[in-house]
Amino acid sequence: MSAPQTTKRPPAGRAPAKAPAKGRPAPARKRRRRRSGAGKRAFHLLIVLVGVVAVLYMALKLFSGPGGEAQAEKREPVPTHLPVTPQPSATPLPTPTPPNVDVNSWELRLIREEKPLGEDFVPESLTEIENGQKVDSRIAEPLKDLFGAARAAGYSVYFCSGYRDYATQHLIYFDNHVNIYMAQGMTEAEANAKAKLAVNYPGASEHQSGLCADVLESPDQDMEPYIGGSGLMLWLEEHCAKYGFVIRYPADKTDVTGVEYEPWHLRYVGTTAAEYIMEHHMCLEEFLAMYGITY
Ligand SMILES: [Zn+2]
Repeated sequence: MSAPQTTKRPPAGRAPAKAPAKGRPAPARKRRRRRSGAGKRAFHLLIVLVGVVAVLYMALKLFSGPGGEAQAEKREPVPTHLPVTPQPSATPLPTPTPPNVDVNSWELRLIREEKPLGEDFVPESLTEIENGQKVDSRIAEPLKDLFGAARAAGYSVYFCSGYRDYATQHLIYFDNHVNIYMAQGMTEAEANAKAKLAVNYPGASEHQSGLCADVLESPDQDMEPYIGGSGLMLWLEEHCAKYGFVIRYPADKTDVTGVEYEPWHLRYVGTTAAEYIMEHHMCLEEFLAMYGITY
């Protein structure tokens, strides 16, 4: 706000404060007196205007001072965050739809220590495939087809182990593992813990069901070299599902299956389930969990 122009003019009444020059004519005095009367009024007006300006100035200062600014800030707060513009959420991953299978059917039976077959379980019908190895008759054709396809692809296939009865599993578990570990100084608990990573407890092995097959390239009983991924193992992983088989103990599922990686151990689950399991990199436990089957 600017003061009226008049306030800038020097007050008429003060100009003659200087001592008048000697010998000045009287009319000049009269004129000065007349100016003095008008100067008083102007002076009063000036006082009033100065007062008004002072009041306005103080009011302005009061308003725009720190308190006023703070108040202004309160009225119009400076945003401390950029306004959040709602972003469209990322396209959700499609929820896998479990395939339409009968999870209570024989080929999807979960067999593990918590779900053992029991000492007396024997498959209804066994069929010998080759090398003296037998399987549940219902998976004979799919297994033969798988072997035929692998050989046609140029791989040597050796059917190492199919159906094993309870007594055989008992022998493998104790004589070939637990007893050896204990002879090496382990406690019984330590020996059992180590054995269970490599072989299922008697009554809890899939081999007793006749629904699985250990497949190697040669009669070499040392399976360790195959863990690195031999040609046949890689081929099986890629093609087994087409024939209804899965790699039952995948490399990264030991914490779920309780069994170390066994690329040679094929389990029949039927083509629908097998293709789903292999495509989604699951183990049988994870697949059955989708249907509420736990252990
Ligand atoms: Zn096996």
